[in-house]
Amino acid sequence: MSFRLSRRALLGSLLASPLLAAAPSSPSSLHIVRKGDADYASARINKNRAVTSLPQAVAYAFDERDVIAALRYAKDAGLPISVRSGGHDYEGFSTNDNGLVIDLSRFDGIAIDREDGSCRVAPGVLLRTLYHRLFTEASASLPAGSCGTVGVSGLTLGGGFGPLGRMHGLLCDRLRAVRLVDAAGELRTSAADPDLLWACRGGGGGNFGIVTEFVFDLVAVPAIVTTFSLNPGWNAGVARTAALAFTQSAPNLPREISPTLLLSRNENAVELFGLSLLGEPQTQSALREIVLAIGGTLTTNRVPYLAAVERGAGNDTDVACWKMTSSFLGGPLSGDGCDAVTRALIAPHSGQVQFELFGGSIARLRQDASAFWHRDKSVLIQCQSYWRDPEKGQPERAWVASAFASIDPHTTRSSYRNYCDLALTDWPVRYYGANYARLQQIKARLDAQNRFSYPQSIRLP
Ligand SMILES: Cc1cc2nc3c(=O)[nH]c(=O)nc-3n(C[C@H](O)[C@H](O)[C@H](O)COP(=O)(O)OP(=O)(O)OC[C@H]3O[C@@H](n4cnc5c(N)ncnc54)[C@H](O)[C@@H]3O)c2cc1C
Repeated sequence: MSFRLSRRALLGSLLASPLLAAAPSSPSSLHIVRKGDADYASARINKNRAVTSLPQAVAYAFDERDVIAALRYAKDAGLPISVRSGGHDYEGFSTNDNGLVIDLSRFDGIAIDREDGSCRVAPGVLLRTLYHRLFTEASASLPAGSCGTVGVSGLTLGGGFGPLGRMHGLLCDRLRAVRLVDAAGELRTSAADPDLLWACRGGGGGNFGIVTEFVFDLVAVPAIVTTFSLNPGWNAGVARTAALAFTQSAPNLPREISPTLLLSRNENAVELFGLSLLGEPQTQSALREIVLAIGGTLTTNRVPYLAAVERGAGNDTDVACWKMTSSFLGGPLSGDGCDAVTRALIAPHSGQVQFELFGGSIARLRQDASAFWHRDKSVLIQCQSYWRDPEKGQPERAWVASAFASIDPHTTRSSYRNYCDLALTDWPVRYYGANYARLQQIKARLDAQNRFSYPQSIRLP
């Protein structure tokens, strides 16, 4: 433990490149936990307990040198590999059965360059740590996700959408550079290979190699922001009206406002909530039309920025198992689509349907400017279900499948890679649209042997 702390302290103070890699002469500190070891049970576990994979071993890397050593170890032992950072992948694509999981959670340095307005982030950093460090040390932030326990790696590589998204774009849009160890154990940089940066901006994690360093351009944030919430309680008719009003009106909101609509009979929720960079009166006024449609009184509060984004940190700790899937809208949800949502929510074993607003600065880029394809979409609809016992969950999974089957035909039939779903057989076009072909070319160049492979990884052309 003392070793880990001193290594961390050292990382925090270093500024020369490669910032987060070990000095070439240092010995590898790779720590391998194998099946049968006392700490195997905790090493193999996934955030989503519904994922019950049993890898042969988990290799904890502390730096870039360890990453290369882990790849060599897997090759010598003939083990398939998975790459894990925050471990939140919905379908467990960061783990496997009988292979090696290369775990980066202990490779977690951050270095902020205030002069340059950038930060360098090691792959194991969690979002809550990043938010905290950026704000306390540089009064800055990044447009990232709403849950603090998510890993910066998977979040960035799949896109990364959060409360500042409409104002500043996706997390991957702030990515300036990456370092990556490829399948052959060779170091690649986006400075030398610009396609790498293109692919790492939304092309999905675990496809091309192991990212060992992200460089982000920071954004300025105010010290105080406005949060808002409204929940008149569950009512099927109100839920239908809310779905219609949200998908019709929210895309016209100022980009300073990021609202979410959560519909759930079980949670007694027709809930509108979010964060605004405007003052309370402007926020109230901008949301008036949606609030009138839903009914009830919108509550607004002025809160410190960090408290607002940290509110979501750790809120998944008591959730054991989940199944989720998503579909993007390109415009308002039709009347039939709204009926499909409400019918799903009153069905037995219903979970929840969440609407997240895209557009704003996310739509600023062309669809092929980066691997993230969904620049033209307005709202992301997510069907979500949670349960506690990993041995159970059949009714919840069945509900997600049937809710999705009835809602999806009213959408663009495209989905977010970071809300991955094994049931999507047409995932290449759903996640990546016309960018898939270019991703396949990059895959062929960086991983011709397909060592980075999972059920929905980019296929060789
Ligand atoms: C509670 C919860 C809240 C969420 N909130 C949001 C949100 O607000 N916004 C949003 O956009 N998404 C959100 N997500 C989805 C999230 O973005 C994805 O689950 C993401 O893939 C998680 O990244 P991770 O590093 O934690 O997961 P991991 O399981 O470690 O990795 C995810 C994928 O990336 C790969 N990978 C990980 N590290 C590397 C690396 N260094 N190099 C190459 N490949 C790598 C893995 O192999 C895997 O394929 C949320 C998920 C959960 C469970």
